[in-house]
Amino acid sequence: MKPTSGQSELLQELKNYLLFLKDYGYTEIPQRIELNVASSKKSAKEVKPNIPRPAKPVSSGPATDAGGPLENVRAELGDCARCKLSEGRNHIVFGSGNPNADLVFVGEGPGKDEDEQGFPFVGRAGRKLTEIIEKGMNLNRERDTYICNIVKCRPPGNRDPEKDEISACKPFLLKQLHAIQPKVVVALGKPAASTLLGRNVPITRERGTWHEFEGFKLMLTFHPAYLLRSYTLENRKAMHDDMKKVLEALGK
Ligand code: URA
Repeated sequence: MKPTSGQSELLQELKNYLLFLKDYGYTEIPQRIELNVASSKKSAKEVKPNIPRPAKPVSSGPATDAGGPLENVRAELGDCARCKLSEGRNHIVFGSGNPNADLVFVGEGPGKDEDEQGFPFVGRAGRKLTEIIEKGMNLNRERDTYICNIVKCRPPGNRDPEKDEISACKPFLLKQLHAIQPKVVVALGKPAASTLLGRNVPITRERGTWHEFEGFKLMLTFHPAYLLRSYTLENRKAMHDDMKKVLEALGK
């Protein structure tokens, strides 16, 4: 029987996850990979591998940063209408994680899931990023990192953010970084790398290289969505090598 497209996608995701664990030297599956087939009543549609999902993200709200510098940035941003992205958004996706993290990941912009939930990297690419952080780097996403984006509102149809949108949002990203004072910033993908460095960055050529950005050490690497699309050994190894450099820079 031919799998449905949803099943194929799940199987591909499971395969990628197993490959990922293998790349990172796992010889056993560290968490239950339960295929929810215990009940024979369940239809094939419901068969879902228990691929780790991010713990409920901690927003940079009062619980983590009450009155702190990051919370002040959030307050200054307010109910932002500085660019046209505000018109179609459900949520401002400010960022999530530890406001004092040594490591900050910067993505491109919220997608559908992020816009719905108000937190960055909670969709498929987010699960991959969480895997990289937790299984690959042996860090805890919420405790050890802070994650945000170049723009804080979803570009319609997930198009690339436009220049005026980036210009309106970038000052807040800079303020976030200065509030957090991380040891290392990682730009995920070409748009993030190009925005931070202010030039067109050929990411396949420049990934894995260190840069200086606003006094912070900046590493360029692939976007997890790109990795998902092109899950080759070469790309997985590249990501692995880049994160190894980041861990070294963090003294881990
Ligand atoms: N991709 C991004 O670049 N950022 C997100 O928050 C989610 C997906």
